[in-house]
Amino acid sequence: MQNTLALFQELATLLFEDEKMRPVATFMPSEDLLDTMDLSLQEQAIMDEDFVAVLKELILSSPKTATHAFFNQLFGGRNEKAVLGDLLAVLLNNSMYTYKAAGAQIGVEKVILEKCCTMMGWDHHSGGTIAAGGSMTNFMAMLMARDKKGVDVRHAGVQQKMTIYTSVESHYSVPKNASFAGIGRDQVRYIPVDERGCMLPHLLENAIAEDLKMGLTPTMVNATAGTTVLGAFDDIPSINEICQKHQIWLHVDGAYCGSVLFSKNYKHLIEGIEAVDSFSFNAHKMIGTPLSCSLLLVKDKTWLYRSFANEADYLYQTDEDEFNPGKTSLQCGRRNDALKFWTLWKSVGTEGLEGIIDKQFELAAVARDYLQNHSDYTIYSYEDSISVCFNYKDIPARELCTLLYENSKLLVGYGTFKQFEFVRLVTINAQNEKEDILNFFKVLEDFVAQNPARWTTQTRTE
Ligand SMILES: *Cc1c(COP(=O)(O)O)cnc(C)c1O
Repeated sequence: MQNTLALFQELATLLFEDEKMRPVATFMPSEDLLDTMDLSLQEQAIMDEDFVAVLKELILSSPKTATHAFFNQLFGGRNEKAVLGDLLAVLLNNSMYTYKAAGAQIGVEKVILEKCCTMMGWDHHSGGTIAAGGSMTNFMAMLMARDKKGVDVRHAGVQQKMTIYTSVESHYSVPKNASFAGIGRDQVRYIPVDERGCMLPHLLENAIAEDLKMGLTPTMVNATAGTTVLGAFDDIPSINEICQKHQIWLHVDGAYCGSVLFSKNYKHLIEGIEAVDSFSFNAHKMIGTPLSCSLLLVKDKTWLYRSFANEADYLYQTDEDEFNPGKTSLQCGRRNDALKFWTLWKSVGTEGLEGIIDKQFELAAVARDYLQNHSDYTIYSYEDSISVCFNYKDIPARELCTLLYENSKLLVGYGTFKQFEFVRLVTINAQNEKEDILNFFKVLEDFVAQNPARWTTQTRTE
């Protein structure tokens, strides 16, 4: 193992050097990948040198998500304290179902979940779990909502025609999860949004009334804290009032921006969060841990047990339920995603986490400022969002993003809202500085200037 760790160190050093020199990996068309690199598997073992050589090639060819040129998705950067925790989790290889198998690591997860529940304003009736991503924590919330509403649904299956409500701007996991839950994709009602991308509560109210009239069973409302494209926050108090009135489970999908929970300056964006039934957020997005680390917090933890507990005497052989979190999990064997969050939190403190969140909003303000002061840009996003959406010189966003990628300049994506398509710059890497954001625009502008013939100006739909 010592030799392998030395090799790891060598490979890591190679990667760090390369990231400095080439923040974007050389573009490789997907159709050429398997011809360019030998990823094939053989019957025989290979020589150590060949093994190391292929590992080096693989590392240097992979997209670099930790550099200041990666703005493509809702994660980025590399927090060393969190990486350390994740490396240790791999080394220890505990499975997070029982105290017997994971011991002190159960305490690590428990402390994180309890602390987050306290920050939600909840008491000891609350609880939570960590799962393999926001799609899954959202799924678990939907299952609890279904099991609470459905008559004997756990044993007899879904009997009623249930309905789910979410905004048109919400994440695609909602319809997928509705299908997995036996509720059905056609039973999802997409509520329109205002000009900032927030769900319109009166239209939610109308949709529920309509379904009740038809004899359907409204089961869950999914509000979003940070929509995937614009980073918009739904109005939780207004939505909650409607849910209370009709006894509907309210889940808040904060996968993207729910981590504002950690910031005194931005917590107001999820005002009213203490009143919801469940809340999910991805520490691997705003908090910046390695993938993946998604938390699900539930105001009344009995629903977690009701939906996910199962007797299994081959597994649960010692200790109370509280120390056997397999009883509140969708999975059986479960990776330790808690430790990376804990090592980060332990080392920087809650204040340090707050600093990470605030920094992202500062960087977004830098970007918006730049756009507002340069007339070649059209801006589509608002303050209180770390998704900064814009177009440059009316160049079609998808063309610009794709060419930046194919020329190994920048990794950035595009999005759409209403009739507009635009570049979406996500300032989620808190290790970036103001200069990195300004450099992003410089690289983009230089690239456009150097390739004048390439651009087909889009006709504006305004
Ligand atoms: C990213 C995201 C998800 C999905 O999270 P994964 O961890 O990628 O499964 C869900 N909802 C929103 C709003 C997101 O931004």
